[in-house]
Amino acid sequence: MDNQKRFFLTESEIPTQWYNIVADMKTKPLPILHPQTKKPITVDQMTGIFNRACSEQELNTTDAWIDIPEEVRNEYKKYRSTPLVRAYGLEKALDTPAHIYFKNESVSPIGSHKLNSALAQAYYCKKEGVTNITTETGAGQWGAALSYAAKIFGLELAVFMVKVSYNQKPYRRLIMQTFGAQVIASPSMSTRAGKDILTKTPTYQGSLGTAISEAVELAMQTPNCKYVLGSVLNHVTLHQTVIGIEAEKQMAMAGEYPDIVIGCFGGGSNFGGISFPFMRHNILEGKQTQFLAAEPAACPKLTRGVFEYDFGDEVGYTPLLPMFTLGHDFAPANIHAGGLRYHGAGTIVSQLIKDGYMKGVDIPQLESFKAAEIFAQAEGIIPAPESAHAIATAIREAKKCKEEGKQKTILFCLSGHGLIDMTAYDQYLSGDLRNYELPQEEIDKCTSRLEKLA
Ligand SMILES: *Cc1c(COP(=O)(O)O)cnc(C)c1O
Repeated sequence: MDNQKRFFLTESEIPTQWYNIVADMKTKPLPILHPQTKKPITVDQMTGIFNRACSEQELNTTDAWIDIPEEVRNEYKKYRSTPLVRAYGLEKALDTPAHIYFKNESVSPIGSHKLNSALAQAYYCKKEGVTNITTETGAGQWGAALSYAAKIFGLELAVFMVKVSYNQKPYRRLIMQTFGAQVIASPSMSTRAGKDILTKTPTYQGSLGTAISEAVELAMQTPNCKYVLGSVLNHVTLHQTVIGIEAEKQMAMAGEYPDIVIGCFGGGSNFGGISFPFMRHNILEGKQTQFLAAEPAACPKLTRGVFEYDFGDEVGYTPLLPMFTLGHDFAPANIHAGGLRYHGAGTIVSQLIKDGYMKGVDIPQLESFKAAEIFAQAEGIIPAPESAHAIATAIREAKKCKEEGKQKTILFCLSGHGLIDMTAYDQYLSGDLRNYELPQEEIDKCTSRLEKLA
């Protein structure tokens, strides 16, 4: 077969702007609220935790296109454009009439899409005279990306890493330390949030919600220090739209337009990043592309959560976000897709799902690893356990095409590679991995504690 398999953009074609979908949405997301006053939060209030540029982007509902600073775009040139790949191998393995494409964000220096926002946020902090930043990390992908970005822009970084991942994934910790970051297992005894949780439940293995509380608390108590978040918030997803903007141009080079766009879903940044530039045509021109957010069945906020105001963290330091949530004290099972173990979802995606523009799909852990195995054998890439959820969804859709005899074009985001997640593959291959049932009572228990503000 001599059809073209990979599509790239030249340096001058790398996007110069990110896409802010809120400006084009018919129904805007509900306002983000201040955690204490419960009134819509202002840019000035947000800057108590975040840098000013990102606070402004967070609340921007009017500008559809926002310039990418030249310094950030220059860093993007080290690895962008990322390839758009026609997955001929996977199509053959599935014997499907579907055309399957993936946008390969795993080729970034640290192995995932996370660097797209890490570089932007570190740059803005530096530009505003910030010297120290704090963050949380689950599987370690975000921490690794931010460690590198902090080094590039000359910032000191402290990372609170979810304890279960700290122990399961020592190599990610070492990557962060190699870039010069300080890494702390969360919950830790170094913050009040961590101490409170540890004294209540000494064996608690941590969650992203807890790690965020610790990172925010440290940022609030340290002079000249800002907190930086790797997912969920609007400005993070905004930075990730570079993925979809490139993909749209690359799909055009391939002479196609997707019928289905798929991303795995933790807080929504890679999913929103690949989706929003295509969603734009659904909103503005009535295109009928389908958008599927692949979440783990063990942490199903999009399909079984409630739409309500909730905190982004365990303790309640962050602004209140109107979103699909399982409740901020929901403790997800220890699945290997650490980046998807988050209780909530971005407000934009939540609103678009509420309005029927997008849909969540639940993938059990074993199905995700089976999909990863099929993909690895067909395409030669070991996917991140998170990305495997997107692959599993793409495989479901490709099988449907075969059953129905329909040719559809499927695009998914390969958010990262799994070369540092081989202990998870070890468990899968030796048959030790299992699915987790999540009883409805557990969801009801956590969501019933939410204040009804939406
Ligand atoms: C962090 C991460 C995710 C989940 O985060 P989103 O903000 O939902 O994209 C998915 N895949 C990989 C590889 C990650 O590192």
